[in-house]
Amino acid sequence: MLRVAVVGSGPSGVYTAQALLNQSLVPDVRVHVLDRLPTPYGLVRYGVAPDHEKIKSLQNSLRAVLEDERVTFVGHVQIGGTGGVSPARLAELYHAVVYCVGAAADRPLAVPGEDLPGSYSATRFVSWYSAHPDIAPDGFALQARSAVVIGVGNVAVDVARILARGADELRATDVPRAALGALAGSRVREVHIAGRRGPSQARFTTKELRELGALPGARIVVDPAELAMDPAYAAQEGLPLPAVVRRNLEVLRGWSAEGEPAVPVHGHPAVSDAVRRIRLRFFLRPVELLERGGRVAGVRFARTAPDGAGGVQDTGGYEDVEAQLVLRAVGYRGVELPGLPFDPVRGTVPHAAGRVLRDGVPSPGEYVAGWIKRGPTGVIGSNRSCAKETVASLIEDAPLLARRPAADDPLAVLRAWGLRPVEWDGWLSIERAEAALGRSLGRGPVKIPDWPGLLAAARGEEG
Ligand SMILES: Cc1cc2nc3c(=O)[nH]c(=O)nc-3n(C[C@H](O)[C@H](O)[C@H](O)COP(=O)(O)OP(=O)(O)OC[C@H]3O[C@@H](n4cnc5c(N)ncnc54)[C@H](O)[C@@H]3O)c2cc1C
Repeated sequence: MLRVAVVGSGPSGVYTAQALLNQSLVPDVRVHVLDRLPTPYGLVRYGVAPDHEKIKSLQNSLRAVLEDERVTFVGHVQIGGTGGVSPARLAELYHAVVYCVGAAADRPLAVPGEDLPGSYSATRFVSWYSAHPDIAPDGFALQARSAVVIGVGNVAVDVARILARGADELRATDVPRAALGALAGSRVREVHIAGRRGPSQARFTTKELRELGALPGARIVVDPAELAMDPAYAAQEGLPLPAVVRRNLEVLRGWSAEGEPAVPVHGHPAVSDAVRRIRLRFFLRPVELLERGGRVAGVRFARTAPDGAGGVQDTGGYEDVEAQLVLRAVGYRGVELPGLPFDPVRGTVPHAAGRVLRDGVPSPGEYVAGWIKRGPTGVIGSNRSCAKETVASLIEDAPLLARRPAADDPLAVLRAWGLRPVEWDGWLSIERAEAALGRSLGRGPVKIPDWPGLLAAARGEEG
């Protein structure tokens, strides 16, 4: 029997387990999928936006893998770090360990004022509305009237959409109570999404972009002059552009033609005050977060323009945009797991076809897959082929791996080390508690947002 530990129960961890089950060269495989959280599914539970029900429902196919009799979910077990099981000790329990720990830290902007109160990483905001237990449930009060989201990828669009979407619509999702309350009381009326390059270089997909325009209580504002500055926009009649860029530009052109929505007239209960404006801005590079009264009050942007070589350069002009809330969505990065090699420049674990490299040499029994292997790119499905490559390497090494010592009952050893793993039954118990919480609130399942609540629910105790 080949005993494999997969660290991380996000898409890459579950696809790794699935690839191990699906291969036929080593028939007798047992997989333990470990996670520091008592809940499975990684960013599918704690990243994918709550109003993206279809993508969220991918949990069902991940669930089928975790329910296979050859797979054991072992939640609430941290590998590495303070109080965690070191990679060296974990290696004693299994023939092989595959690290699928994701890349959930945010990239810094590296501008003055970045750490002012009111300025947060989008990662933090996403974790908050997704009920990640590491973030305080009452972490955001949303007293701001104007918010700036820095970045033009799908995560930037996600957070802008959640800010602009009414709480009424989110009530149908599993958004936790405190976040729903804060979103219901939100005073945000303007959401600026700003990128330093042009619209043809933005990384959002057309589907996500169009969704902004479909929000019932929001109007999109796009400045035609900023579109016209984009070389691809200007050339689109003559040049074949990638389909996604062409479609994005068409959507943006449609919005820019609609112009600015009417401003409410004082004394008249104008409809437009209820409407949130989402301003999509381009060619703006953040240079400083402005402060007033010890909090963020705005963002100073340097204006940029195409440099003729596919990039942008500063024009010497500046623009200040008022904001009492700033969300930085300029990318994710991997975090070093103590005891595992790490490439600080790429934010990934060095590897060759999924085999972890220590000093450039494959380390026996150690593998890596998913975002921590290839960086935070691609959609959920990209992790499937990534996991397959890693499992192919592992299976190729299996004859050697099988000769390494492994524990007969790794779970018993983990317990003997003082850990209290949450197994699949515990997760099912959390699911039941979330369904019961939702019922008591007249909603569908509602997520439990804190560690004590999750652990009590896992153990079948009253929350
Ligand atoms: C905000 C956001 C929205 C997204 N929306 C979409 C979308 O709509 N559609 C789409 O296709 N893709 C989306 N993605 C991308 C998708 O979520 C990723 O491709 C995918 O989750 C990466 O999988 P992973 O398994 O490598 O990492 P993760 O999903 O991050 O899973 C890593 C797991 O490892 C665990 N872990 C971490 N460290 C340790 C440790 N030391 N010990 C034990 N366990 C540990 C974590 O708790 C987590 O469960 C989104 C990403 C983000 C950030």
